[in-house]
Amino acid sequence: MALSEHLAKVVAETPGFMPVDEGEALHEAALRANPGTWLEIGTYCGKSTLLLGDAARRVGAQLVTVDHHHGSEENQPGWEWHDESLVDDRTGKLDTLPRFRPVLDELEDCCSAVVARTEVVAQWWSSPIELLFLDGNHTEPIALHDYRSFARHLTPGALLIVHDVFPNPDDGGQAPWHVVESAMHSGGFGQVSVHGSLRVLRRLSFDAFTTA
Ligand code: SAH
Ligand code: MG
Repeated sequence: MALSEHLAKVVAETPGFMPVDEGEALHEAALRANPGTWLEIGTYCGKSTLLLGDAARRVGAQLVTVDHHHGSEENQPGWEWHDESLVDDRTGKLDTLPRFRPVLDELEDCCSAVVARTEVVAQWWSSPIELLFLDGNHTEPIALHDYRSFARHLTPGALLIVHDVFPNPDDGGQAPWHVVESAMHSGGFGQVSVHGSLRVLRRLSFDAFTTA
């Protein structure tokens, strides 16, 4: 089920880090998830949020997207993935929240935005999750924190989708790959598909699962 022409245009115009083919794979995978609560870690300007939000609407799910909106290490001035146009003149800080606003307006019936650090959200989050998309901080401690804190809320049959997974260190940072390895070694997940750097896993039964 393809995106509407309108939404495809909004996705294309929204700054972000989701290649077209991996975005299509994300949308396709999400359409096979159960309704209920879906959680995205790493909103940035909402490129992937649009894809997940459109699938959530069709499936009858509610999407929650979390970001402090000040960017990751690699988005800061002087780094490879810095976008000068997203700096707030008043504070001099990167701020993706204003650019995310029109995206949120597209998804007002099916998406809630949480503007906070994942370390804070993890302290109160208690809802069962039917789809978890991990695309936030790619440093080892925070990527593993996000996996450990939120994957334990996945119900049997729920999807765990991880972005920027590079098994070969020459291709990119290793933290998301280590998350996938942890999930596979936990015995709690089976791999559904791989599309470029996008991995889709499915949660197995409660018994087999530990995020330790
Ligand atoms: N999914 C987006 C890309 C996300 S980039 C897309 O498709 O374009 C990663 C995001 O993670 C950044 O916006 C950054 O602000 C956010 N982030 C990094 N560390 C975070 C943390 N500890 N808590 C919340 N968000 C964080
Ligand atoms: Mg990414």
